[in-house]
Amino acid sequence: MKMRYDLNAFAKKLKKHQDKYRFQHTQGVRYTAAALAMAHGYDLEKAETAGLLHDCAKCIPNDKKLKICSKNQIAVSEIEYSAPFLLHAKVGVYVAREKYKVEDPEILSAIRWHTTGKPDMSILDKIIYLADYIEPGRNKAPNLNTVRALAFRDLDECMYQVLKDTLAYLGNNPKTLDSATKDAFDFYEKLHKERRYENR
Ligand code: FE
Ligand code: FE
Repeated sequence: MKMRYDLNAFAKKLKKHQDKYRFQHTQGVRYTAAALAMAHGYDLEKAETAGLLHDCAKCIPNDKKLKICSKNQIAVSEIEYSAPFLLHAKVGVYVAREKYKVEDPEILSAIRWHTTGKPDMSILDKIIYLADYIEPGRNKAPNLNTVRALAFRDLDECMYQVLKDTLAYLGNNPKTLDSATKDAFDFYEKLHKERRYENR
């Protein structure tokens, strides 16, 4: 099978643009995304590519992120101005296209939404969002053992759990809470309730 992207070259380049911690995290997300793709019958290479690139803009300083946005007509919301780290998702899409020549809309969407989530995510959106949360280097989130097992069984139910825990955590700090996260939670909570009703 022909590789669509040179993932080793991507990894090499990322290593140069990320600090040591971020690069380790990136590799954790790459392989966790691959494992989740196996569990859910998704394209492995796409999952690995999105996993590798999801934080490709994370180590760009905030003022430079804002500059890239204004130069390239990338809209910056009020919440993103006050918490510019949120911008690494949008800027990540730009960097993935410009510096890594990735145009696959599924991969770009997964990068775009990996920080906040959104309602009705695609399989790859969910794989990357969850791989980012559960990769082996993570250790701070609550219920990690449960959530890790759940991610391999049921992506939607896992989204519900993770968004619930995330909102409980971010709720203490509304300045960094993007409305997309609340919208995502409402969507997956509704799904969760409907399915519980169906399974009764
Ligand atoms: Fe990120
Ligand atoms: Fe990440």
